[in-house]
Amino acid sequence: MAISWTRHRFSGGALALDAANTVVHRGDPARSFDRFERAEELPRFAAAATGYRAAELGARKLSVADIRSALPKVLAIREATDRLFRNAVRRGAVATADMPELLGACAGALAGHDEHLRLPDQPFGDPATPLQLEAALAVSALSLLSPDSVRRLRICPNCNWLFVDRSRNASRLWCDMAVCGNRQKAKRHYRRRKAQEVPHA
Ligand SMILES: [Zn+2]
Repeated sequence: MAISWTRHRFSGGALALDAANTVVHRGDPARSFDRFERAEELPRFAAAATGYRAAELGARKLSVADIRSALPKVLAIREATDRLFRNAVRRGAVATADMPELLGACAGALAGHDEHLRLPDQPFGDPATPLQLEAALAVSALSLLSPDSVRRLRICPNCNWLFVDRSRNASRLWCDMAVCGNRQKAKRHYRRRKAQEVPHA
């Protein structure tokens, strides 16, 4: 069944983290699944990300020219991104041991492209033409290495997704309050009610 790429699935706060979060319940073999299991989801993800990540992308459209050649590059960046930044949340620092894998994956995704990035109003290059998804993931992942981004990285305690907390006082707990925050509230409420129930004799 095709994935519905809703706003909630772009709760990572950065394109590279949204891609990392396409593995749901990572680390939980019983519940984990991969939304990129069908390669046909790549262009659908790219189309949705074009809308939800327009601010980060400087309104540049994302596309996938060749699904089969893009898939291994996208998955390599996704896995390296998750490993490096998940470890960074746990340690509060980026480990050099995690960097070669990410930098290698980014190099593979950017090789052969001819783009001019980081112009003041064109962070991902000229929005007149579309940018390939794998190249955009590389640029997004590399931009997260700044100390301010690392300081704001979080892991959602409900769904285990990575996200950047851009709130003013950096106190956000959930990837998405409307989804994960409410689920946790409902669970707490249920547990309290169970605890208050008088057992029948
Ligand atoms: Zn969450």
